[in-house]
Parts: sequence; structure tokens; C-alpha cells
Amino acid sequence: MRLTILGCAGSVPGPNTAASGYLLEADGFVLGLELGNGTLSQLQEFRSPFDLDALVFSHLHPDHCADFGALTVIRRYHPHWPGGRPTRLPVYGPDDTEQRLVNLYAPNEPERAETDLGDVYEFRPLPSEPVAIGPFVLTAYEVLHPTPAYGLRISHGGVTLAYTGDSGMCPALDVLAHDVDVLLSEASWTDADDRPLGVHLSGVEAGLLAHRSGARRLLLTHIAPWTDRAKIYAEARTTFDGPLELVEQGATYDI
Ligand SMILES: [Zn+2]
Ligand SMILES: [Zn+2]
Repeated sequence: MRLTILGCAGSVPGPNTAASGYLLEADGFVLGLELGNGTLSQLQEFRSPFDLDALVFSHLHPDHCADFGALTVIRRYHPHWPGGRPTRLPVYGPDDTEQRLVNLYAPNEPERAETDLGDVYEFRPLPSEPVAIGPFVLTAYEVLHPTPAYGLRISHGGVTLAYTGDSGMCPALDVLAHDVDVLLSEASWTDADDRPLGVHLSGVEAGLLAHRSGARRLLLTHIAPWTDRAKIYAEARTTFDGPLELVEQGATYDI
């Protein structure tokens, strides 16, 4: 499978850098992971928004889903449908995803009476048991964050990627990342004593998670624009001695 980074700025977009958004492709199937601020613009650098075959949200903080309303506009109102009008896009997320995303698009009752987005999307809960999404098999694990949030374990062709989403250290992360080929882990901030606990990982913690779970490669993402990227790398290096990279917007990774 091929991973493309649409955006990897943590918590907020940075200067010319989008917030969280990824594409995962295999066998011609295009799976979108997150659609944070600025990622719809980046998506159009690589793909038509009509190429998406499914979309998955780990959680519904704005830096992971803010461009969803704009995707709705494109898929509903674009005057020149490439290849004909698209089918309803499957959208997976936490249980309240449909309600929250409809409210994002139509903020009051009269507007919601006009549109529930059912013409554009088919909302589905994230699966706690493995489920096939196109050629991928996806399992979601609830992780530790101030809103319902999930890590995603995605397999294809004998290869497995684990994506932490946003999470503080918790036992579910070890299950999520166990023996994976690639761990795409958030590392939002450095390991300072004054950081809030139970929200995000530091570079030290992301490396530790990769080390003890047996991950064979660690890709770090969701680094906040105000965080020193070199320090995050150096921190992760102290706890994980395998292949390690900070992902870059626009980069692709064969997994
Ligand atoms: Zn985030
Ligand atoms: Zn978050």
C-alpha cells in the first residue's frame, strides 16, 4: 500500500502546511484518513476529490475534519462530474460522526431539515472488529484523548500500518501497534514536565511505543507548528533505534 501525506501539522495548520490528512492506496482503491484544515487543497494536488472511495476519521477535532464541509460542496455541486455523478461516499468515524458533521455543514434546524448529507455520504461507525474497506482490513481501538478518539490498524497484502490518531499514552496503543510494519504515530510535543497528560504523545513516548510494540518502522506526524521538529526526532531516537522519519507534507511512502 502507498501512504501519501496531505498534511501533518499537529493541532492546527502551520504556514503553508495543512493539518492532519492522509491517503492510503492499494489495488486502485483510495482511502482517505482524516480531512483536517488545508487538506482538501492538498488532496487536489494528487487526486480528484471524486477519486476517494472511502473516508475514515479517527476523531472529530477540527484539525482532523475541518475540510469535510468543503468536500461536501465539491461532491454535491461540482458542475462537471468526472465519470458521472459519484456514488455516496462511505464515511467511518466515532458514533456521533453523522450528527456532528451534519451540524458542521448545516448549523440550524431549518437547514438540517433541508439536508442531512444523505445524498452525498453514507455514515458508518468505526468497527471494533476487523472490517473490510475495499482491499483493506481496518480495526479501530479507542485511545486516550479529550474526545472519543480511535487508533486505526490497517492491513493489506500481509502488511500492516498502525496510525495512532491523537492519543496520550494508554494500553490500547500497545495493542494497536503490536508487531506492525509501520507505526504512523503522533508526536505533538516534546517531553517537557509541564505538558498536559492524557492528550498527546511526546517524541520520547512515540519512540517508546514503537520499541515495545515491535514496530519495524516509525513515521512521526502531528507535530505542532510551535514544536521543534529536530527535538522530536532526537527524543524518539533515544527510545527507538529502528528506521525513523518525520513525515513531510506531499511525501509518499511505500509500505
Ligand atoms: Zn489533532
Ligand atoms: Zn485531537
